[in-house]
Amino acid sequence: MDLAAAVLQGDRLALARLLTAIEDEDPAGLAVLSDLYPHGGKADRIGITGPPGSGKSSLVARLAAHIRRCGLRSGAGSGPAKLAVVAIDPSSPFTGGAILGDRIRMRDLAGDPGVFIRSMASRGALGGLAQATFGTVQALDAAGYQVILIETVGAGQAEVEIASTAHTTVVVEAPGMGDDVQAIKAGILEIADILVVNKADLPGADNAMRQLQAALALGYPEHPAEGHAHHAPLSERESQGRPQPAPPAGWVPEVLATSALKDTGIPNVVEAIDRHLSYLDATGGRQALEARRAEREVEHLLQQRLAEWFHGRLAADRLDEALRRVVERQISPRQAVELLTRELAG
Ligand code: GDP
Repeated sequence: MDLAAAVLQGDRLALARLLTAIEDEDPAGLAVLSDLYPHGGKADRIGITGPPGSGKSSLVARLAAHIRRCGLRSGAGSGPAKLAVVAIDPSSPFTGGAILGDRIRMRDLAGDPGVFIRSMASRGALGGLAQATFGTVQALDAAGYQVILIETVGAGQAEVEIASTAHTTVVVEAPGMGDDVQAIKAGILEIADILVVNKADLPGADNAMRQLQAALALGYPEHPAEGHAHHAPLSERESQGRPQPAPPAGWVPEVLATSALKDTGIPNVVEAIDRHLSYLDATGGRQALEARRAEREVEHLLQQRLAEWFHGRLAADRLDEALRRVVERQISPRQAVELLTRELAG
């Protein structure tokens, strides 16, 4: 049986082999990924991001266990979903401690045949990691994992890019990580559909929640001060009761408290994710996200391919020569690119 068929039939070993091939950018593996592409598109992708130490891995393990017990979509009613976790740490080397830590926290889940866990770390360029992550998620989707939790560390460009491939993005914070809430400092609030203050068992959690609600209130002026979820369409509220033709609905991020340690608040987060996914379904947001994701991915691959094509045709000494002239300020970087492309075109 070929690899694609084995993956479609739920063969875990075949899936693991395919994911390694994708990470290695092995052409045969990438061809299998293309064969599988028409089978995907069904999974709910949930991104979970936030600063290191906020308890993402612990929270992901709790969320996964809860979703396995109770399902994610309240409306679906078809029992627990098959679930995959993709844990990404761009800052750690492949054998890094963070990955080992993830595995230890995930140990309770690892015996569940409905759960697949994959850890990924940086193996070179961050762009490569994002691409490998997209491929991994596509393979898991085609393999029938209905819920995919994508956990990324931190708030760099690659992490935000990876997180934004999700349908629902959860940003995790914790008290006691300095005076300011990290997500506010790092500017990742805008990608959050749901904000979680984890470690609610520790002092300072209330303060962190207040800070997040205050920061959100700046972005959502009509957000209630107590931070309770508000799902009324923004435009409806803005119209002050005047009838509007099919107002586009708005989503106001919720701020929720959890303790992954004490296993509290987890069902609230799962319910909020369910609500956000339903909101996307109801407003056409899911298709819009898919269209954006497709555009970004194709654009990314196109740039990569064009760069390869360009370098493959350009004599190395021509590039060196142009770079030397840029260093000596004979020509500008822009002029160098014009010169090189004109040479190839001519
Ligand atoms: P990550 O780096 O964001 O993935 O965070 P981890 O899940 O590795 O957790 C970092 C540390 O915080 C570990 O020592 C956890 O045991 C601890 N931790 C995680 N969640 C909680 C929580 O809800 N309360 C408390 N007190 N500690 C927690």
